[in-house]
Amino acid sequence: MAVKMRTMQLAIIGGGPAGLSAAIRAREMGLADVWVIERSKFLGGILNQCIHHGFGVHIFKEELTGPEYAQRLIDRAMELGVNFAMESMVIDITHERELTYVSKLGLVNVQAGAIILAMGCRERPRGAVGIPGARVAGIFAAGVAQELVNMKGYMPGKRAVILGSGDIGLIMARRLTLEGATVVGVYEIMPYSGGLKRNIAQCLNDYDIPLHLSHTVTRTVGEKRLTGVYVAKVDENLLPIIETEYFVPCDTLLLSVGLIPENELSKKIGVVLSPITGGALVNNRLETSVPGVFSCGNVLHVHDLVDYVTLEAYEAATYAVRFVQDEGIKRLGPFFRRGLGAIENRDSIAIKPLTGVRYTVPMSIVHGSAESYTVSFRSDGVYTPGVVKVLADGRVIKTARKRIIVPSEMARVDFEIDMPVSEIAVTVE
Ligand SMILES: Cc1cc2nc3c(=O)[nH]c(=O)nc-3n(C[C@H](O)[C@H](O)[C@H](O)COP(=O)(O)OP(=O)(O)OC[C@H]3O[C@@H](n4cnc5c(N)ncnc54)[C@H](O)[C@@H]3O)c2cc1C
Repeated sequence: MAVKMRTMQLAIIGGGPAGLSAAIRAREMGLADVWVIERSKFLGGILNQCIHHGFGVHIFKEELTGPEYAQRLIDRAMELGVNFAMESMVIDITHERELTYVSKLGLVNVQAGAIILAMGCRERPRGAVGIPGARVAGIFAAGVAQELVNMKGYMPGKRAVILGSGDIGLIMARRLTLEGATVVGVYEIMPYSGGLKRNIAQCLNDYDIPLHLSHTVTRTVGEKRLTGVYVAKVDENLLPIIETEYFVPCDTLLLSVGLIPENELSKKIGVVLSPITGGALVNNRLETSVPGVFSCGNVLHVHDLVDYVTLEAYEAATYAVRFVQDEGIKRLGPFFRRGLGAIENRDSIAIKPLTGVRYTVPMSIVHGSAESYTVSFRSDGVYTPGVVKVLADGRVIKTARKRIIVPSEMARVDFEIDMPVSEIAVTVE
């Protein structure tokens, strides 16, 4: 098969809200040759199957459905002249920003000035949670069930149990109920829910669907089709207390047990990943450890609100465009091996998650590269109220009080640095 060669100033992998938002910002900044490479037939990513409302409250000041939010981004990207390579799956990238995608045109090789990784995430499968039981019909990842119901018009079953109280599970509890199924209950291993508070209220409480915290599914029962599951309480080490086990008849089990950033391509070029988020380690420019390769959206860390995906993508695009436009880089030509990121890593200040903080994004800042910095983070427990502190070399430089901080909702804190420091830390009390 003939291999086609081409160049792109900015190649964005993934046409979901992160990729589309990044493309919009890059064109708004005047970059001429901006490409979104998307493997599916449609732009919009996961938003296409999220037909419920609740998107865009921060960005558009309106409650939109997922497809409506996506359409606004698509319209704007089209208006600005973003280029799209559709049904084009990126299968390889190199450290020198060469990428290969496969499409109807065959294999296409691209030399990109900068790359933005915006590949989203995938659902954690049954194998990853290790529930004993035969491989019977009726066990679905919650997002797969969402696609079946909302896009293909199939019902996965009539009587469902949902394991995991992440947002997809909560939204599917309501969706299945509205479509006529009975949702027996949502079982969550942690002592708190993994989803947004508003989803607990609107998707469970409004429909009298019980949420069983500190519970898990211990085994599945059935020969060809699922006939039920055993559930049990868990102890403080999250291990099932066998004496509390009981049987719940059902024909469907939906798993909403976490999302994994799609970083197979990133790993190929040695992008350093965080063992906690599964996404790239990035500085405040959202630049990965590979110069000229940026990351945003769910491939960087799992977001609960798409508005923050858009804001993050704007940041990634801003710095990617600056990277491409930099005079030094232009002089070196398209086959340069070392970029701004590598040079400026010398000025990098690490951001450490301290007590109460599981992780931060970004994980470092380039000193003097911005007037103020925003750090997103997730807590390790429930704090009511939560007091967030930012420390520079041990000195508190910002204190922010929040009514409640929970692990399921990403929190953010802004701060400024007016003198040289060697380490930043974030803590929640
Ligand atoms: C079920 C569910 C419910 C949600 N509910 C809400 C809500 O109520 N309100 C809210 O604000 N947010 C909600 N969110 C969150 C929000 O939808 C996501 O945070 C957002 O869609 C992430 O955008 P993304 O562009 O990073 O990823 P995605 O939307 O997943 O897009 C990634 C894109 O990359 C493409 N891709 C991947 N790999 C490749 C490759 N190798 N080559 C080419 N293309 C590739 C994929 O096909 C996809 O189109 C929800 C999310 C889910 C899953």
